[in-house]
Amino acid sequence: MAFRWLANIIAPPICIGCGWPGSWLCKSCHSHLTWIDSQIDWWSLINLDAGVAKIWSATEYVDLAKEIVVRVKYQRQFALCQLQAKIMMLAYGKYIQEAGIDWLVPIPITTARQRWRGFNQAALIAKHLSNYTNISYNLKALRRLDHGTAHAKKNRQQRQAELPMFEANPVVCQGKTICLIDDVVTTGSTLKTAAGACRQAGASQIFAATFAATIG
Ligand SMILES: [Zn+2]
Repeated sequence: MAFRWLANIIAPPICIGCGWPGSWLCKSCHSHLTWIDSQIDWWSLINLDAGVAKIWSATEYVDLAKEIVVRVKYQRQFALCQLQAKIMMLAYGKYIQEAGIDWLVPIPITTARQRWRGFNQAALIAKHLSNYTNISYNLKALRRLDHGTAHAKKNRQQRQAELPMFEANPVVCQGKTICLIDDVVTTGSTLKTAAGACRQAGASQIFAATFAATIG
């Protein structure tokens, strides 16, 4: 596994779509992403309620976009988080920059998952997106709470049905405009729970930005 990590860093990138050398996504494959129009409020069209003022997503969670997410999450190709942030910047960077956002706040993953993966993909995306947008990111705004021992005793299906629990930091959130960052939005329930915690901690406005979204 250590070798793979090293290979991820030193190997010159090749296109995920077609294998062409030089970048993680060549120009041709880039144009084949299923882009989402940031000016359409698609989330209300599909009745996705994430409890935030607006959700920006760059592409639909299909084909290459799905491949990118899967490689980050399950093959630990964390270098691709920069590609995700770059695509987000291209899709809706100027809208984020105009929204008066104080903090980009990544959705935390569970401690067990972070230990297994070695990193939180949302935090890496937030870091790179921060570089592209010049909006600061904050890793201390939100933390994920453990479900405790009762949770561990439940079966897999029961555990998956349970909503994640978050706690937001009032010192960081009070009076601030926050943009939650995640790789994919599916039902919006995770974003909604996280947004609720931020609101409770005094955040004045909450947006969300993801790389991909499940639509339809
Ligand atoms: Zn390609």
